[in-house]
Amino acid sequence: MDFQPSPTSQQWLHRLQAFSDRWLLPHNAAWHRHARAGEIAPFMPSLRELARDEGLWNLCLPWLAPHEPGTPLSNLDYAPLAEAMGRLHWSAEVFNCHAPDSGTMELLHRHADAAQREAWLAPLLAGEIRSAFAMSEPDVASSDPTNLQTTVRRDGDALLLHGRKWFVTGAAHPDCRLLVVVCRNAGEPVEADAHAAHSLVLVPIATPGVHVVRNIAVMQHLAPEGHCELRLDGVRVPASNLLAAWGAGFALAQVRLAPGRIHHCMRTIGQCELALELACDRALERRSFGRVLAEQANVQDWIAQSRVEIDQARLLVLHAAWSLDQPQPPERLRADISAIKLVAGRLQTQVLDRAIQVFGAMGLSPDTPLAWLWTWGRALRLLDGPDEVHLRAVARHEFSRVRARGGASAAWFTTPEQMAAAPRLR
Ligand SMILES: Cc1cc2nc3c(=O)[nH]c(=O)nc-3n(C[C@H](O)[C@H](O)[C@H](O)COP(=O)(O)OP(=O)(O)OC[C@H]3O[C@@H](n4cnc5c(N)ncnc54)[C@H](O)[C@@H]3O)c2cc1C
Repeated sequence: MDFQPSPTSQQWLHRLQAFSDRWLLPHNAAWHRHARAGEIAPFMPSLRELARDEGLWNLCLPWLAPHEPGTPLSNLDYAPLAEAMGRLHWSAEVFNCHAPDSGTMELLHRHADAAQREAWLAPLLAGEIRSAFAMSEPDVASSDPTNLQTTVRRDGDALLLHGRKWFVTGAAHPDCRLLVVVCRNAGEPVEADAHAAHSLVLVPIATPGVHVVRNIAVMQHLAPEGHCELRLDGVRVPASNLLAAWGAGFALAQVRLAPGRIHHCMRTIGQCELALELACDRALERRSFGRVLAEQANVQDWIAQSRVEIDQARLLVLHAAWSLDQPQPPERLRADISAIKLVAGRLQTQVLDRAIQVFGAMGLSPDTPLAWLWTWGRALRLLDGPDEVHLRAVARHEFSRVRARGGASAAWFTTPEQMAAAPRLR
């Protein structure tokens, strides 16, 4: 087992870090100033153009064809780059590797027809437009997508949508042109297969009847690109805007979420590394009761625990990235991705909480990235599925593995009575 990133990964990581140091870090304070004012930073387009010229573009799309812009890397090769992007959380967008567009590109690449690819995938790959994925709804528990109520009805050669969505990331961005909307197929019997009852519809955001009701703050942080509430009032689009098959929505949403989840986790590792580094700096210089904080045993414990937990999580993330690159049974992959999604969200809130404690009151202020990063970690424990749903997925996979091998051998029991009574799963 080789724990070194491949030469390709190292080479691109080096280029990305040099680019970030030279072009992005000097803009960091300004980026935050704009974000606090609810504005999209005006320098983003020119930074994106520079990154694209350097080939630092679409790095998260292993399937990228030679005629498409950017540099395709395997998921495993991309992981260290995503970690580096996590340290400067707005930088993923500079490299066109940000959510939710990376997930939309994955979905369109796999399932769009030629006309849909030309209309939406090509401009997303070129960074000319942005997209948003509208699944969650205020009126139903959206962690179970079979609950979703927004409807789509066939109406001649059109599709007609009605419903409400919320927390739609990216819908307030001025370049957002496309909504991928998860809809319940209207007019089908309720007893129909719950996993075949939804479809995905491509909706240009400017279609009459699409209303962006508000941009929802996440624990007082307002993202300029938005986590928006939407109303869809009789939205009419051509029938050709259906993505893949009628009723395939549930399965397609899973396709979209797998790489998206792993990218979030990779960036989380970088965010935690940054928090740990800042906490160490602070502990080495801040004095209290006659000594620096770094000499307090509890501070040493926090630093050591964070170090160990980050390293554990990184290994799990790299393993999941490697799995995604291999031909794997989908259930296995789902369990691997659920596992890292769980670990990453929990890691982030723990590591950030310790770093904030080391910083004292300043850790809660907008003067460091810590408060924002903690908030993001907390959100990560809900977005793309809450922890409990991922725990359920891991447990189900574990049970099915045990069932598949017929349970543990009776020989493990230590008395003849128990050996005779041992459960038989076959
Ligand atoms: C910052 C942010 C960005 C987001 N971006 C998007 C986006 O772009 N597009 C989009 O569609 N959605 C987005 N979401 C919404 C997110 O995907 C949902 O919040 C999430 O799926 C949970 O759905 P819910 O809020 O309806 O919670 P509910 O489904 O109401 O669940 C509430 C709680 O019930 C518990 N629970 C649920 N199921 C189980 C179970 N099986 N076992 C045990 N406990 C369970 C969990 O504790 C869960 O937290 C975003 C959310 C946030 C915070």
